[in-house]
Amino acid sequence: MSYFKVNEKCNGCLACVQNCPASALKYIDKGETREILHNMSLCARCGHCWRICPQDAIEFKYLLTGEFDTVTSLDLVHCKVCGEPIFTANLGETVSKNLESTVEALCPEHKGSEAVKVWKQFAFKKVS
Ligand code: SF4
Ligand code: SF4
Repeated sequence: MSYFKVNEKCNGCLACVQNCPASALKYIDKGETREILHNMSLCARCGHCWRICPQDAIEFKYLLTGEFDTVTSLDLVHCKVCGEPIFTANLGETVSKNLESTVEALCPEHKGSEAVKVWKQFAFKKVS
């Protein structure tokens, strides 16, 4: 996804490419098509391309605001007591493999609640 966006007014004059001080823009003529390319890692966000464009075709606001891109999406494991998300299924698998035992799906607050439950049952039995 590119944050350097041009609108339909771009006529491919290349003024932006030729005047970018960071060489962040280039073009490729492919058969019948001219493509304009932008490299975000080189771009200084100086706005020179936007100022120089004779067509007012560069939507510079996208370069200034930017956004987070989703780079991956992983399944979550939830605490079996309260339902809070605690870790990803992949992380659970990795840790379980390293520990050679299954990691319980319990959040920090409810970790040990199983043991407490057993202890309470035991304690109440003793009292009654
Ligand atoms: S200067 Fe403007 S019109 Fe010319 S190629 Fe760049 S964006 Fe398109
Ligand atoms: S904002 Fe500046 S560095 Fe980035 S493409 Fe435009 S002229 Fe080049």
